[in-house]
Amino acid sequence: MSVLVVGSIALDTVKTPVEEHADLLGGSASYAAVGASFFSRVNFVGVVGGDFPREHVEFFRGRNIDLEGLQTVEGKTFRWSGEYHWDLNTRETRSVELNVFEHFNPELPESYRATPIILLANIAPKLQSHVLDQAEQPRFVIADTMDLWIDIAKDDLLALIARVDLLILNDGEARQFTGETSLVRAGAQIRKLGPKYVAIKKGEHGCLLFGEDQFFSCGAYPLEDIHDPTGAGDTFAGGLAGYLASLGDGEITFDNLRRAVVHGSVLASFNVEAFSLERLRSLTMADIEQRYQLFRLMSHFEVLG
Ligand code: AMP
Repeated sequence: MSVLVVGSIALDTVKTPVEEHADLLGGSASYAAVGASFFSRVNFVGVVGGDFPREHVEFFRGRNIDLEGLQTVEGKTFRWSGEYHWDLNTRETRSVELNVFEHFNPELPESYRATPIILLANIAPKLQSHVLDQAEQPRFVIADTMDLWIDIAKDDLLALIARVDLLILNDGEARQFTGETSLVRAGAQIRKLGPKYVAIKKGEHGCLLFGEDQFFSCGAYPLEDIHDPTGAGDTFAGGLAGYLASLGDGEITFDNLRRAVVHGSVLASFNVEAFSLERLRSLTMADIEQRYQLFRLMSHFEVLG
């Protein structure tokens, strides 16, 4: 089964307390699509300008990512710049240049419309809804979002999340969205707005998954070296969606989702080991499987008695 990924494609400039790199491949869709491509074929929808390096397009192509939905239009590619604080958990946006992204209208090629798993990576919720309007009976719809849309487009976001199966957001966003300090309450409250499942990411502290009377708390793989946290959330979502697609067309159960969350977390843990998508370029399935097993051993504990 394939995954449809729509989101931003960017050239990023990222500064951490120890390094700064400019014009890196980035964007929510880039991380999500490459993350998903480890497990399944990807149908990719996004926009770039004439300045977008050819080598990045070839990288996507080489990763089992279908590019019929990639629009190349006149103008400059979306650019984002961010700076991380010492803890590498918090960051500030230094600049945003929307460029060709300003007039982005995500159009699904005919061949993408029946893609069974849809991942709406972070873009304006109105555009995410527009993608769903064009889809034909998807089996499972996942949406990611960010604080900006909670601030400036909450009604659009509410309309979108009524149509998705799984909403992914981070802890700060879940609190901002619901006004709850407790993430457990926030997760339950968001579920009442429509999504069958909610995943709340907690950065280096892992992730909480909420379903109906079901709950899963997944840690984060402990890393010695984090170089660039950019795109961790998008890689997580991509790995999760790709893993679900790899399961074929059986029912998507809470147990499947738990395993998908762990796969997403493993992929995100690799992604932050280098800037941009560099670590994903050399990553193998054997690396993923080995870390999955180590992660399982670290997280497991015995029954009492
Ligand atoms: P994350 O670290 O998961 O928040 O994702 C970072 C990526 O999101 C970067 O590569 C940016 O290019 C991209 N990004 C930043 N702002 C936006 C936005 N307003 N809409 C879509 N993508 C964005």
